[in-house]
Parts: sequence; structure tokens; C-alpha cells
Amino acid sequence: MLKINENFCKLPPSYLFVEIARKVKEFEASHPDREVIRLGIGDVTRPLPKAVVDAMKKASDEMGCAETFRGYGPECGYEFLRKVIAENDYAKRGVTIALDEIFISDGAKSDTGNIGDIFDSGNVVAVCDPVYPVYVDTNVMAGRAGEYVEGMGWSKIVYMPCTEENGFLPELPKQPVDMIYLCFPNNPTGEAIGYQELKKWVDYANEHGAVILYDAAYEAFITEDLPHSIYEVEGAKTCAIEFRSFSKTAGFTGTRCAFTVIPKELCVEGVSLNQLWNRRQSTKMNGVPYIVQRGAEAVYSASGHEEVTENIRYYLENAKVIKGGLTKAGLKAYGGINSPYVWLKTPDGLNSWEFFDLLLEKAGVVGTPGSGFGLSGEGYFRLTSFNSKENTQKAVQRILSSL
Ligand code: PLP
Repeated sequence: MLKINENFCKLPPSYLFVEIARKVKEFEASHPDREVIRLGIGDVTRPLPKAVVDAMKKASDEMGCAETFRGYGPECGYEFLRKVIAENDYAKRGVTIALDEIFISDGAKSDTGNIGDIFDSGNVVAVCDPVYPVYVDTNVMAGRAGEYVEGMGWSKIVYMPCTEENGFLPELPKQPVDMIYLCFPNNPTGEAIGYQELKKWVDYANEHGAVILYDAAYEAFITEDLPHSIYEVEGAKTCAIEFRSFSKTAGFTGTRCAFTVIPKELCVEGVSLNQLWNRRQSTKMNGVPYIVQRGAEAVYSASGHEEVTENIRYYLENAKVIKGGLTKAGLKAYGGINSPYVWLKTPDGLNSWEFFDLLLEKAGVVGTPGSGFGLSGEGYFRLTSFNSKENTQKAVQRILSSL
């Protein structure tokens, strides 16, 4: 008899953004004279750099010409893109990554979600709490999460709380774990990790035979002296897979391009994870469009780099305005220095949703309740810097006069 993957039925409805949208709609309907500013969005708003658009136009013309037309490309990405990644993202930081250790894909969401395919369903998964929900939900789908217990989370997942008390850095797990998801700079807390702290994780993983699944989707926002890649830390090549994305770096959220790095040294029970992932990707996908990969290549050109840097500077300036405003209002605010996200502690013991309501009612500003990212996110709130400078400044003024 036909059966479905029952694990999918275990997933609770993803209610966070639906609930936010419902509340905002209701507020707008009952306050037609009030303008709502959205600082909840995790999506970029600045347009693609001109260098990227020009490269994609040129590539489109090539596709319309018999001499330069291209059909299926290499499943794991064109060499021209892998080459600029290896040079700019790694060699310039003193890290040697071979071209066949880089896998081009359509997103870090797909890659962080799909990577579980090459691991056993009995592995123990550890995640930070709060967390980007994709890591958890995809492990539920794979049958690694156990059962959902209200107020506790998934029975087989090891949660590593990241709170004010530990500076938003997880502590090494006390029980054995196999697959460790780390994300720095972090979504949602906006906090980053230093070399020494990251080295602890690398040493732990090498010692215990665990793998670190390192999501560096926000590395381009780093402004301080911090590792952009986990491979800047000695020993990482034997224990870590790194995920990168052009989404937030270069405005590719709607264009779709990312990459994953799996060093050849990384083996489990004598089996190369690089080879397994290569087999998985070549079997299940047919690559990223040529036009998009040409666009991504242009991110590394001199003018592309300049434009991308300017966009990131723009978002970081917004983050500074938000954090500065919140601090002035007497709130405790974190992140925002190496990240587009500002994470604040809700005042007066309000829970995350109570603060959401208060901010919407009094300031007409929308953010994201921290409890939506995990149990340890309760009592926190996320604001993002992806709105315009004008709206961000206006939102902060309103917050200041309403709190
Ligand atoms: N990883 C993290 C931590 C994210 O916050 C996001 C998007 O918000 C992604 C990955 C998704 O990246 P992509 O657009 O490349 O799929």
C-alpha cells in the first residue's frame, strides 16, 4: 500500500510569518490613517548591482546566438565562477580551496536543507536556539528529530541556547552529537563568532568525529576582525562543510545563486563527503542557469565589488541607526555590527508577541518575535536593516517617541 513520508506530517504549520501578516493586516484595516513600516523582512531591497545586470544581459545575448548558446552546464557549476570564488573568497584569506571542492547551487536554503541526504537518519543533530528554522524542519523531514514536545522542542534534537548570558555563542554540547549546525554571523541574533571561539568547535568536531555544517550566508556583513570562512581556522577542512550565498551579499534573493564548499579531506568512515555530495547534486540537479552564474561572476569584478560593498554599507548604516535608537530608548540591543539583524531584549518582561503588539500599536513598526526562532528566542525581538534609509530613520524616531 502506498505510504507517504510520515515525517512531513509531524511538522507543525509554519505559523510565524502568517501570524505576523494577519496581525499587520488587521491593524491596517482598523487604522487606515497609520503608515506601517516593516522592519521584519529578511529580504534585500536594493537592486542588483549594474555590473551584475550588465553581465546577465550579455549572457542572455549569448544564449540567443547559435555560436554562443549553451545547454546543460556542469551540474556543480561553471569553472569561471568557481575560479573567482576560490581566488576572492578563499585564496585572498589565505585558504586554499580547489575548484572541485566548490559546488554552485540555487541557494543556501536548498543546500543547508539538502545536505542531510548524505548523512544517516540516526545521526544526532545539534542546533543553536534561536535558529534559522530550515535546519530543524529539514531534519524533521529526514526523521532525525524525534517527536515534538510542546514547550521542549524536538525530542532527538540537541538545542544549544544562545542568550545574553553566554553572549549569544553556543556552548559545546555535553552529550554526543554528530551533525552540528552553526551560523555566523547569526540569523536571527546578528552576533558573530571570533577565531578562538570557532576553533573550539573545530577541535571539538575533529575530536568527536562530528561534522560542522557552517552557514556563512552573512559573511559579507562582517566589519570586525572575525573569520569570514570556517576554513580560516586550522583543522576545519577535516570536519566542516561551508555554505555561502549571493542572496544577501549581492541582492540575489530573487536571482538565486549560492555555493557550498566540501574539502576533499573531509571523510566519514573512509568515505569522501565531497564525492557523496557531488553524486547527490549530479543526480538530483542540473545546475544553475548560465546567465545567473555570469551575474554572480560579475560580483567579483572591480565595479561589481564596489557596488556590492556600497549596498552592504547602506544596510549596515541602517542597522547602526536601529541599534543606536533602541539603545537610546533604554533597550538592550545586540548584533547589527557584523550583520543586517538587530536582536533586542524586550523591556519590562514582555514576551516576544506582547512586544510585537506594542511596537505595532504604538509605533506602527513591524518586527519579528524572537520566540518564532526557538524557545530561547522568547523575550527577544528581531529588527532588520533591509528597509530604506528613510523608513528606517522614521521607524526609529517613532520607536523613540513611543517607548
Ligand atoms: N541561511 C540563513 C541563515 C538565512 O538567513 C537565509 C535566508 O534568509 C539563507 C540561508 C537562505 O539563503 P538563500 O537565499 O541562498 O537560499
